[in-house]
Amino acid sequence: MERTFLAIKPDGVQRGLVSEIIGRLEKKGFTLVGLKLLKPSRELAEQHYDVHRERPFFAGLVEFITSGPVVAMVWEGDGVIASARKLIGATNPLNAEPGTIRGDLGINIGRNIIHGSDAPETAQKEVALWFKDEELVNWQPELTRWLRE
Ligand code: UDP
Ligand code: MG
Repeated sequence: MERTFLAIKPDGVQRGLVSEIIGRLEKKGFTLVGLKLLKPSRELAEQHYDVHRERPFFAGLVEFITSGPVVAMVWEGDGVIASARKLIGATNPLNAEPGTIRGDLGINIGRNIIHGSDAPETAQKEVALWFKDEELVNWQPELTRWLRE
């Protein structure tokens, strides 16, 4: 079953948006299989954003991500990687469609509330970077037959 890595960034936690965000994914029908609150180390943040290492915003981004609690999550379901990206919305909240997390809840690209893996390879890499195998729970919601034909 497909899995993706999502993280509520320090701004989302500080603003009390944790339940709102988890609620949106739950209501959509995806399954939560990993969840923890942590203050990421610099090493973890730098590895996570490694592809952006040469970008001008990299230092500030790492500073921001390590500044406070992050809610790290793994969500499961058919098509969850692309669908979660849609639920999250465009990187710049000012361009994100209403109805998306960033479109409804944010106004600034440097404070865009949530991270979501962008492709199967990055999802796999990020899940492994943030979670040990034993921290993930294999379970089947009883609701499955009401969510999927
Ligand atoms: N970011 C930023 N300024 C920029 C572009 C990106 O602060 O000009 C931050 C922003 O937090 C974004 C993250 O860097 O979420 C990663 O950028 P990416 O293009 O991968 O966006 P995402 O995949 O998060 O939509
Ligand atoms: Mg990205």
